[in-house]
Amino acid sequence: MAQPVSRESIEKEPRTRHADKAVASVCPYCAVGCSQLIYVKDKRIVDIEGNPASPINEGTLCPKGAATYQYVVNPHRVTTVRYRAPHSDHWEDRPLEWAMDRIATLIKETRDATFVERTAEGKLVNQTTAIATLGGATMDIEENYLIKKLFGGGLGVVSIENQARI
Ligand code: SF4
Repeated sequence: MAQPVSRESIEKEPRTRHADKAVASVCPYCAVGCSQLIYVKDKRIVDIEGNPASPINEGTLCPKGAATYQYVVNPHRVTTVRYRAPHSDHWEDRPLEWAMDRIATLIKETRDATFVERTAEGKLVNQTTAIATLGGATMDIEENYLIKKLFGGGLGVVSIENQARI
């Protein structure tokens, strides 16, 4: 039996229809490793969908993976360094170089003040427990490798955490 369908519904079409190409990628969020298709038009991402060719997810994505497009293309995404000074009630834009220098200075000061080479029992530890790092799910495995190498092996930071399961 014919169903009533509005003209608006008939005229709707997916964002993927007019894309120039679809590039295979991997969802950034978790260790399941679902494959995605990144649809591109005029060198801009127009949609991200599950990849039907993947034996892992066969074209599907969980709600988190299905929202990847909003993560990449979002007018609310912060693209500048935002700084709120101690006791201030507002945020300020600062240059990236300023932020990098400030982070490096504070880490150096904190590490110098708290670094422990040996415990009271003489055990060699080479550590500081005054600095911690917290990563997010969208950090890839190369970034996490560098974080572990710099903060753990290089600076002696003990608390290294990441929400991702890669
Ligand atoms: S977050 Fe969801 S879509 Fe992404 S890899 Fe994990 S299960 Fe797959």
